[in-house]
Amino acid sequence: MNTDYPHILVTNDDGVLAPGLAALAEALKAVGRVSVIAPDRNRSASGHVKTLHRPLRVDETCLANGLPALMTDGAPSDAVALGLMGLVPQPVHLVVAGINRGANVGHDLTYSGTVTAAMEGVIGGVPAFAVSLDVRASASEDYDVAAAFAAYLAHLVLDHGLPPGVLLNVNVPARASTDIQGVKVTRMGIRVYRDVLVTRKDPSGRPYYWIGGDPPTGILAEGTDFAALTQGFISVTPVQMDFTAYGLLGALESWPWDRWRAESDAWK
Ligand code: MN
Repeated sequence: MNTDYPHILVTNDDGVLAPGLAALAEALKAVGRVSVIAPDRNRSASGHVKTLHRPLRVDETCLANGLPALMTDGAPSDAVALGLMGLVPQPVHLVVAGINRGANVGHDLTYSGTVTAAMEGVIGGVPAFAVSLDVRASASEDYDVAAAFAAYLAHLVLDHGLPPGVLLNVNVPARASTDIQGVKVTRMGIRVYRDVLVTRKDPSGRPYYWIGGDPPTGILAEGTDFAALTQGFISVTPVQMDFTAYGLLGALESWPWDRWRAESDAWK
């Protein structure tokens, strides 16, 4: 891999004006050439999207710190796809998404535009990681520590590489560098969502629904992303795109599949 002067594609899901994106792009300039292509608005929790039924627009803009960027009306994963398909100079050696405002742990990974943007990099054959700042219990929204860690990790990933189909999901506590306990390699934990359905009526009397409630918490199981963050550690989780439940393969094979034709007739 060309690690002399690597080319890094940077995106986020909080939108092109988010301070976390500017901090990330600035920090990664110390590692290599940086190209930014990001959504033109906040696309948090947009999941893994491929926009196929309308055109995608791309415009030149600047980040909050003045760095040049491209912005698109597509989703974060669209932004990565656009970049890898030629809207930024090729080749791209690394995709980095973030720095998200808010942790992405447990099942957040499936909702997160930040993590799914990194997934899009991996699907495109490029090593990738996502970085999020856990701002939940802190008034601090200083991205410097997370940005510096992202630059260090970019260097490590370019050096070591990642297996095909694997990305890293990184979460950084919103603490001063001196208050961070260290780095833990973790597994995906379990979020506890506290969503509440809010029902209201629009001016014409028609109901509408809004998902409200308190922010999610999580199960404090040792070794998980959520536990590490709660204990003040930077969490690094290897995530694979192979969703197969290997533990069930054997048991599932023992189901009576050979009777499918006869049995299916009975269910018509
Ligand atoms: Mn976000």
